[in-house]
Amino acid sequence: MNVLPFQLVQGEPLLRASGVTIDYASARGTVRATQDVSFDVWRGDRFVLLGPSGCGKSTLLKAIGGFIAPRAGSMLLEGRPILAPGPDRIVVFQEFDQLPPWKTVKQNVMFPLLSTGTPKREAEARALHWIAKVGLERFADAFPHTLSGGMKARVAIARALAMQPAVLLMDEPFAALDALTRRRMQEELQALWEEARFTMLFVTHSIEEALVVGNRILLLSPHPGRVRAEINSHQFGLHSAGSPEFQAAAGRIHRLLFGEEADAAARRDEAAARQAQGAQP
Ligand code: ADP
Ligand code: MG
Repeated sequence: MNVLPFQLVQGEPLLRASGVTIDYASARGTVRATQDVSFDVWRGDRFVLLGPSGCGKSTLLKAIGGFIAPRAGSMLLEGRPILAPGPDRIVVFQEFDQLPPWKTVKQNVMFPLLSTGTPKREAEARALHWIAKVGLERFADAFPHTLSGGMKARVAIARALAMQPAVLLMDEPFAALDALTRRRMQEELQALWEEARFTMLFVTHSIEEALVVGNRILLLSPHPGRVRAEINSHQFGLHSAGSPEFQAAAGRIHRLLFGEEADAAARRDEAAARQAQGAQP
């Protein structure tokens, strides 16, 4: 197996977000989605952005995707500023309808390859390779509406990985699945990662999912999202869900996000923001 000892890789992080603040302009004024968010993602990371709904997780992913620009701060991929979308960053969404219904599974997986200039034969070979990897070889010629939610999620993952992105961006990809299918998909994603060691940035609002899927977790405070803490979680997986250590880690994250520590941190953030505003001319 071709596995890089990613813990030993030196030098620049693959992805570096520094002081990222993102605002939306709306009819009622400016909405601040994230405030001064910094993190590094290293090659081979399963990096999780975890926080309550509305804390700016999708916004951060869209900025990394190059779809929106931060108001302040910078985002570098392999040392270069992110200025636009590109095939080195592929997003997998939660929605089941991310697959055009008029294309078969194989055509869906081939489509982004073909539209970025991959020759047809190679696109087909790569598509079939990844369709097999996610266990759907018997469904290569099926249309999306004939597939279950879990199978559609697998197609979306195969389509993304076939592009061999520098980083796979996943925005609550399993949130709409039933609990058992969701678990199964977490397991399969883990197995795919063990084999291919891609880099992923995974967004979730579920503490358990973050611990199971991630090797590092960035905790974001409620709206606007600020970094609360970063946690190592490489020791946890589906096998450890429910263990005392797992429960303790989940409890600690819960307190950091919602407990007294979180309240105190929120008050400090607000005071700092007021001070910064007062300091402005
Ligand atoms: P999350 O993914 O963590 O649930 P989002 O990134 O979707 O959070 O949203 C963060 C904040 O930005 C929310 O308060 C949301 O209402 C706001 N927001 C998101 N998209 C837009 C938009 N297009 N226009 C205005 N406000 C938005
Ligand atoms: Mg979201």
